[in-house]
Amino acid sequence: MSINILDKQTVARIAAGEVVERPASVVKELVENALDAGASRIEVEVRGGGINYIRVTDNGSGIPSEEVELAFERHATSKIKSSQDLQSIESLGFRGEALPSITAVADVEVLTCAEKDTAGTLLALDGGVITRRKNQARPRGTTVTVRDLFRWVPARLKFLKSIPTEGSRVADVVSQYALAYPEVSLMLSVDGKEKLRTSGRGRLIDGIIDVYGVATAGKMLPVDSPEGEWSAGQPSSQIKVTGMVGSPELGRAGRGYMSFFINRRWVSSRLLSYAVEEAYHGLLMTGRHPVAVLDISIPPVEIDVNIHPAKSEVKFRDESTVFRAVQRAVRQALVAQMPVPKIEDVATSYKASPYGLQQLWELASGEERNASTVECPQPLIASLPVLRVVGQVLSSYIVAEGPDGLYLVDQHAAHERVRFDSMQRQRQQRHPEVQGLLEPATFEVTPRQGAILKACLDDLAEYGFSIEEFGDRAYLVRAVPALLAGDDWSAMLRELLDELSGESKSRWEERILASIACHGAVRSGQALSDDEMRSLVRQLEQCTSPHTCPHGRPTIVRLSSGQLEREFGRS
Ligand code: ADP
Ligand code: MG
Repeated sequence: MSINILDKQTVARIAAGEVVERPASVVKELVENALDAGASRIEVEVRGGGINYIRVTDNGSGIPSEEVELAFERHATSKIKSSQDLQSIESLGFRGEALPSITAVADVEVLTCAEKDTAGTLLALDGGVITRRKNQARPRGTTVTVRDLFRWVPARLKFLKSIPTEGSRVADVVSQYALAYPEVSLMLSVDGKEKLRTSGRGRLIDGIIDVYGVATAGKMLPVDSPEGEWSAGQPSSQIKVTGMVGSPELGRAGRGYMSFFINRRWVSSRLLSYAVEEAYHGLLMTGRHPVAVLDISIPPVEIDVNIHPAKSEVKFRDESTVFRAVQRAVRQALVAQMPVPKIEDVATSYKASPYGLQQLWELASGEERNASTVECPQPLIASLPVLRVVGQVLSSYIVAEGPDGLYLVDQHAAHERVRFDSMQRQRQQRHPEVQGLLEPATFEVTPRQGAILKACLDDLAEYGFSIEEFGDRAYLVRAVPALLAGDDWSAMLRELLDELSGESKSRWEERILASIACHGAVRSGQALSDDEMRSLVRQLEQCTSPHTCPHGRPTIVRLSSGQLEREFGRS
């Protein structure tokens, strides 16, 4: 094929892909524009996960009538003038790419009015081509409406997740900016229902209440790095870390509760997550992650935000200084605001057993072995032999004797399998065992969790949850699966919703099942009575695939009598 130069429209659509990946990216760009325009009130409305409809309205500076068309040209920006300005970017936008990228892949209408204009301007573009322009009254500010996202590049639609998932990502973007700009009143409505409205009073704690609810906000500790104290004379004295972090008891299953802003730009950064996690070292159970909302204020010359078209990542000139600044500020906040003995209580009660299975094995065999010498009987026999319980070691493993040697049962994994099978049976028989709550409990959700919960109410009902909407951000829980009775089902539900937001809908059922199974299961480190151990082993024997937990980890390992004889030099 001969070489052709692509036409302008095709180039625009290809380039748009880098900025506009999904509805949430459109919302992010439009909200950033509104913030750059100095708005104190921003309203975001989406329908159909943002694929059908997105509208962002602000009361910012507006676009002067004679510049409205220009704003939709590629690389047209009012925020920088030359490449020199790239070294000191203080606005969120600067690439002049968002509006042209969005228009390349969707139908867009803008209605804007700047201070000096007597009338507002309405401009409509379909797939980048202007179809309408007229004067229309409106107060100062801008409204951008985006319809039929990816109508012009349908291939993109295939890469989107389900509507609730896309909606939850939109909610996440708006929530993040609500946290970064507590002085701006942000409103989000999804399919006509208000999901978030922040007061705009200017205190971070108000933003946290609005986004995460009162219960979480009550456990947040302020972070305010003492400027210069530990870094006098260093460039880091110009780095300031402010915000709030959760006390260790707020530990969450995912990293989605860490929000980072650099000079108030929302970024994702592994370096920063790692710095925060380091600060919590020893305070959180393994697998738990902190809640944090942190702004790192740093001279613009120290960072490069121009490494990614979506501007969601930044590069630091001096990574290790930033890392240290964040880690110390957070650690200091944790240590200063929690009485020391309490930290230790938390640390010990949260500490996992110091022995892994491998060390246990070494203890048993008296010499170094690697885990591969541990025999897992799964491929040989499908069901478990009848076992005689001998005792428990390390409060985590049940020791049992069987027809061919010694067996160690991982009590947590085994119990998970037992619960999983029981839930699955109830589900198949369409007869979930339910525990009604004496009084219905209210369950508060973040906008992001709300979007998922609404979409999975029916799935949850199949397992015995009876939940109904109760206001915008709250649900009423009337019953829970009997297996969760007496447990902290609300924590389980919260974790589950976070997990589901990253999963495709086809896997939800499986995740719900695994989550209920795991949540109330006996933990490692929990002492069990002889009766409890026997009952657990009996139930495991009844399972259809007793050798692994629902996540695929082994529930049981065996040391055969042959191995024992070899170990003792008797063969
Ligand atoms: P960038 O934000 O990188 O400058 P955009 O394509 O997002 O590029 O926007 C182009 C220009 O349009 C901006 O520089 C700004 O002058 C103007 N603009 C866009 N949205 C708004 C808004 N909500 N209020 C005022 N001006 C806006
Ligand atoms: Mg912009």
